[in-house]
Order: sequence, then structure tokens, then C-alpha cells
Amino acid sequence: MPARNILVINCGSSSIKFALVNEAQEPFPLSGLAERLGSPEAALHWQQGETRDSLMIPGADHRLALSQLLPLVQRAAGGELHGIGHRVVHGGERFTAASRLDEISLLAIRQTAPLAPLHNPANLLGIEAAMKLFPNLVQVAVFDTAFHQTLPEYAYRYAVPQALYREHGVRRYGFHGTSHRYVSRRAAELAGLAVGDSSWLVAHLGNGCSTCAIVDGQSRDTSMGLTPLEGLVMGTRSGDVDPNLHSHLARALGWSLEQIDSMLNKDSGLLGLSGLSNDMRALEQAREQGHTGASLAIEVFCYRLAKSLAAMSCALPRLDGLVFTGGIGENSPLIRSKTVDHLRLLGLHLDQPANARCVRGVAGAIQADGSPRVLVVPTNEERQIALDTLALLDA
Ligand code: ADP
Repeated sequence: MPARNILVINCGSSSIKFALVNEAQEPFPLSGLAERLGSPEAALHWQQGETRDSLMIPGADHRLALSQLLPLVQRAAGGELHGIGHRVVHGGERFTAASRLDEISLLAIRQTAPLAPLHNPANLLGIEAAMKLFPNLVQVAVFDTAFHQTLPEYAYRYAVPQALYREHGVRRYGFHGTSHRYVSRRAAELAGLAVGDSSWLVAHLGNGCSTCAIVDGQSRDTSMGLTPLEGLVMGTRSGDVDPNLHSHLARALGWSLEQIDSMLNKDSGLLGLSGLSNDMRALEQAREQGHTGASLAIEVFCYRLAKSLAAMSCALPRLDGLVFTGGIGENSPLIRSKTVDHLRLLGLHLDQPANARCVRGVAGAIQADGSPRVLVVPTNEERQIALDTLALLDA
């Protein structure tokens, strides 16, 4: 059977990220982004091999952008497109794995929208447009939350009245599941261990950041909760704060819920702490030049990350390794080093030359002799979504 092609789509409210994944090839034959959809500046950007190109598509909505994409995809796939995998942020308790899209699963995704009001409706725009444009292709939804449905109840319940969980779904769900699953499997491969008998701590550090404890291929705890705001310090998100901060700001400063939400999600994290940037590269450069806000943001980021990893270790029977992934995890020897410095009680130490070598897509082990493994593993959510889509095609 010739190698199959899967189109992977990740829809935001005004953007579509896409990648054509071929099951036998490492680089994607085609990838790109449609952005500013619904505005006069709407544009499609793509990369095919070494070639980059753009097309203005003024006023285009999701459907029009996808229809412009269609000939590019067909050409790059040699006319052989086998399925479409859609990233969906929230699958609630209904989805414990990827699911073929049909009327029933679409309804369930719509019903989950109140849990992710910013994300699921945007994901649905892309799904509905793609189902109209490609009615004969198998289409699959892959959920950020599904991997974490194996959390034990004592890890996913909040200590709030039962009725909030039973009647309104207030619990911890976790996100970044596709990435945590992909890198924990790659880590087992790199270490020569069976996924089904391995035990990992994973730190996914991109613009959003989360940790995960993974035992025998299953998520046992994770730092994000009901929403992707809980847990670590992120680019612009605060992560954990005192839950009374909302009422304090409302009473003391007269802030509205919308103002507080926006502050915690968009003005906090690395950006809020540094007063400079949400971008770790920019902060590392500013720190070198003596910027105190950038130094503090980096210190808080690493300490809070280490604290979360230490907490996650409660869910492991033993530690086969700590895995760093995401833009920061894959590229920042400084952040890895500062974080591991706080984890001496887990016996972790780095080999600094190895730590320095693992950047820009280079995977590898970076621990010192005598330390449990510390691995850098580039994530690849698009490939994982394509693999899940292929698995359902074969089922
Ligand atoms: P997203 O979550 O949007 O997919 P990424 O995984 O691409 O984001 O991660 C983005 C983050 O990675 C940014 O903070 C960026 O500064 C950081 N990053 C990328 N390269 C480096 C680097 N060489 N050193 C430090 N941080 C880096």
C-alpha cells in the first residue's frame, strides 16, 4: 500500500493552521497558515519544500480559505488525500480518544462548547467547512483533553461542592494531551523502554505550558485544569494564583469579571512579571543585558515549573525520565538547567555540554552520569493527529 496523506487542521476564531502529513515522510509536504479570516487583510501563507508563498484572500471566511487551500493540498498530495484530522481543544468527559466525525460526535462537540467557549466553536467552524468541502473523506477529531481522561478521580476533582462537578462538569480536564502523548511515546523509544512499562514526567513549554505525569502510556496527573489557565507560569497566562484574587480585585479595585479574565489570560505570565515580553528568547537576551524584570520572570518560571514537576512525581511509581518539549523546552538550555537545579531531591543533574547541544530540533539525553534520564524530545502534534486519524481509518 502506498504511504497515505492526511491533512491536519487546527482552526482558531480567525485562523487555520494546516499541515499535510505523509505517513512515510518526516518533513511535511505542505504546511501553512490562513490568518485574519473575516477581515480585508485575510491571507493564506504556505510552505512546500523550500518554497514559501502567500495569497491575499480579502474577506475570506473559514470555508473560502479551505477551498483556496484545496488545490494546493491536492497537488502536494499527488491527488491522494486519505483523511482529515481536526484538532479540537475540549472533549469534556465524552471523548477519551480520537473520534470519527459524524452527526453524533459533532453534536457532542457542540454540547462541550460551554467548557471551551473561545476554542470549540472555532474548531467547529473548520470541521463544518471541511465536511462540506470534502464530504467523502474520513474526518476525525483529536482532542487536547482526551489523553487526560485516565486521571484518577482524586487527581481530577476540585474540593468544591459535589453538585458543581455532577451538574456542571466543574473538574480538572487538562490540555496539551496530544503533545504529552506523542513525546512520552518518543521518549520510551529513545530510551529503549516499552511505553506500556514506563514512567515519565513531561514539561511541555510553549506559549502555553503544562506538566504531566505519564505511567505505562497513560496520563495520571497534569497541571492544567478546568481551563488552560491553571498551573505553570506561561507566556501571557498567570497560571495558579490565589482563587480569591478575583474577589479581591473586584472589591478593592472595582474590576469586572471580563477585566480580571483578560488580565490573567493576556497580561500576566512572563509578560506581566517582566513588564517586557511574553517571548522567552527576548527575555533571555534582556536578562543578559541586566534587565531585572526579565531575570525575575525567568526565575519565577523555572521555580514554579520545578515545583509542579515535584508535585507530579507523586503520581509516579518510579522515574524513568524527565522530558522537555515545546518551543522553550526544545530550545532553551538555560530554562532546562535552572529548572533541574531545583530538582536535586529527585536526583536530577544535567550534563551541560549535552544540554547545550539539544536545540533546534535535536533530540537527546542531557543528564549527567548517575542522574535519572533527562530528555529533550521535539513535539509533533500534527503527526500525532495524523497517526490518530490513520488508526481510525484502519479500524
Ligand atoms: P506555541 O505554544 O504557540 O506552539 P512554541 O511551542 O512555538 O509555541 O513556543 C514558543 C516559545 O518558545 C516562545 O516563548 C519562544 O520565545 C520560545 N523559544 C523558541 N526558541 C527559543 C530559544 N532558542 N530560546 C528560548 N526560547 C525559545
